[in-house]
Amino acid sequence: MTDVDDPADHGDVADPTELAERVRDGEFRLHELDDHADRASAAAARRRLLEAETGADLDAVGGYAFDAADTEGNVENLLGAVQVPMGVAGPLPIDGGAVSGERYLPLATTEGALVASVNRGCGVIRAAGGASARVLKSRMTRAPVFRVAGVGEAERVVEWVRNHRETLREAAESTTSHGELVDVTPYVVGDSVFLRFGYDTKDAMGMNMATIATQAASEVVERETPAALVALSGNLCTDKKPAAINAVEGRGRSVVADVEIPAAVVEERLHAPPAAIAEVNTRKNHLGSAKASSLGFNAQAANVVAAAFLATGQDAAQVVEGANAITSVEVRKRALYASVSLASLEVGTVGGGTTLPTQSEALSVLGVGGGGDPPGANADALAEVIAAGALAGELSLLGALASSNLASAHEQLGR
Ligand code: NAP
Repeated sequence: MTDVDDPADHGDVADPTELAERVRDGEFRLHELDDHADRASAAAARRRLLEAETGADLDAVGGYAFDAADTEGNVENLLGAVQVPMGVAGPLPIDGGAVSGERYLPLATTEGALVASVNRGCGVIRAAGGASARVLKSRMTRAPVFRVAGVGEAERVVEWVRNHRETLREAAESTTSHGELVDVTPYVVGDSVFLRFGYDTKDAMGMNMATIATQAASEVVERETPAALVALSGNLCTDKKPAAINAVEGRGRSVVADVEIPAAVVEERLHAPPAAIAEVNTRKNHLGSAKASSLGFNAQAANVVAAAFLATGQDAAQVVEGANAITSVEVRKRALYASVSLASLEVGTVGGGTTLPTQSEALSVLGVGGGGDPPGANADALAEVIAAGALAGELSLLGALASSNLASAHEQLGR
């Protein structure tokens, strides 16, 4: 662990107390501390300032395991770190398109019972011989909005875009050695034209990559058509907001996991017959979600997605899209079939928070750290493991609900 208060750890570093005083005296501002000291000393100075101003004790925040200098692309005004406990579920046997064999799933959470629940589901999947998983689509999107004079001009822009895919592809791909522009879908609302660019971003979650590439393509659109760029993100992307377009068209990885569990395994491990679990799924996950107009037709997919995202350095705000999942359950001959389809799981194994030491260690537990061979294989594998983990979570919770209903029914009937 780094002791940021010990100058000996950092060589010739500035004194945090003195730095804090200089900020307090108005010599420079909080964010300018990094211009006057190494990042660790600047962070220590901010803690001193905050402690003095708020009365808070920031000792725990100041104890962290990464090198402060390595967080430059991840956070500004560095203060320290927050720690989230991490557990592990598994092993989880998966027959996937990009992953094959058993994997342990690291989950970072403060919700007691979550890891135990997923772990129980992993046991059910193991007893059933394993889950299957496949990434069926990989498309990170960015949708700029352009202003035009009216519908006539909008039609001309849309036509130009449809006839110049190759020009747009060349412009977009000139900014990246990994990303590929796969499609551009136009949408018109009055005098606004939205172009939803879809990229295969390989092992990157790809939001920065797609944004930079779309900027280059948008410049071409502006040069060649009457359209004027208003915003590089026109919210039709849709990033970090609940949106049906992601649930329908997908965003990031669209990934499905399923399993067929022998009825005896269901009864022995989930303590309820397949029909009871299927009924809970239909009435809760389908009818209840439909009545609520939810985008998530599942029991707790967000729990697994969020905990896996925190553990592996994904962008936590994208749990919004990660929760767009449908769980299906059906009784088959002496078996229970269950699946989880995550339409918009935005994951990467390079870039963002994936390189921080604890997150990178969690990725290496899964065997997917860094770039894959071929590129994209590691992020696909991560998506498949998360989907299989979500399936485990669904089975466990549906089983718990079904078995406790049965228990209370038995109790009532027995009286
Ligand atoms: P990034 O860290 O900005 O870029 C990752 C880069 O890694 C790629 O651009 C690529 O370079 C390179 N790379 C090396 N090996 C690769 C491989 N095997 N596959 C793919 N790329 C490889 O990460 P990002 O995924 O594009 O963006 C994620 C970050 O964006 C997160 O920090 C997230 O919080 C943030 N974010 C940004 C926005 C935004 O609007 N800008 C929105 C939401 C989130 P080349 O492109 O040169 O090939």
